[in-house]
Amino acid sequence: MSWSALKTEAIVLTSAPFREADRRYSAFTRDFGKIEFIGRGARRGKAKLAAHLEPFAIVDLEIIKGRRSVTVISVERKHAFRSLMDNIDHRIMTQASLSLLDRHVRENDHDEILYNNLLDWMYFLDSQEKISRKLQVLLLGAFLLRLMQHLGYEVALENCVSCKQGILPLSFRWHGGRGGLVCSDCVQKEPEEWFAARQILEESVKILRFARGADYEDVAKTGFETTHVEDFARIVHDLMQYHLPVDSPVPFWQGLQIS
Ligand SMILES: [Zn+2]
Repeated sequence: MSWSALKTEAIVLTSAPFREADRRYSAFTRDFGKIEFIGRGARRGKAKLAAHLEPFAIVDLEIIKGRRSVTVISVERKHAFRSLMDNIDHRIMTQASLSLLDRHVRENDHDEILYNNLLDWMYFLDSQEKISRKLQVLLLGAFLLRLMQHLGYEVALENCVSCKQGILPLSFRWHGGRGGLVCSDCVQKEPEEWFAARQILEESVKILRFARGADYEDVAKTGFETTHVEDFARIVHDLMQYHLPVDSPVPFWQGLQIS
């Protein structure tokens, strides 16, 4: 076993008190995927490491990976996302996305594409002046759709989940458990099979497609109606319940509404 120190860039995802004076951290690194470690004495205030282990920054970590655990020996802050630190709305949104990522990504799974996606997302949020409540829900939903797609749960929005034919306007239903849209022909042919497929608005499909594919900047400029964005949010929550490995009883937008 090698004890040599490794350097990597990282974003701290979450941290929580651990034992009497320590904190347990979870960070997403460019080179090793998600890692978890304990910050010794992080709560006594004497630890220099803790000061730089804030979640709204890009940091350089020096770590020693043991057989069972990771030890962090130095932290250097590379970039601070100022508006994510200073603006309460931005901070809540970032915290929500970081903890969702933490819950749904396994440890030690190197994934540089996801790491870069996370950086893009944080730079985008940091660049925004003010994000309305409706837009917060839409953007976080878009982030989640992309996360699910990246983790292998691609929602069928263009073609029928059953017969794979292209979906025509006004002739489809929605089945979250089966992963997307089903065409009216399939529903008619096998009504028992598609009993649970429900109606979904054309507008909601439009938002789903847009939220998944467009740049965040363009998503931020849209003027979708609140009721349609709410329907979109319910659909994303529905998909998460079915397809993400960790059960999420609390809807993703809940924390956003109360601030
Ligand atoms: Zn079909």
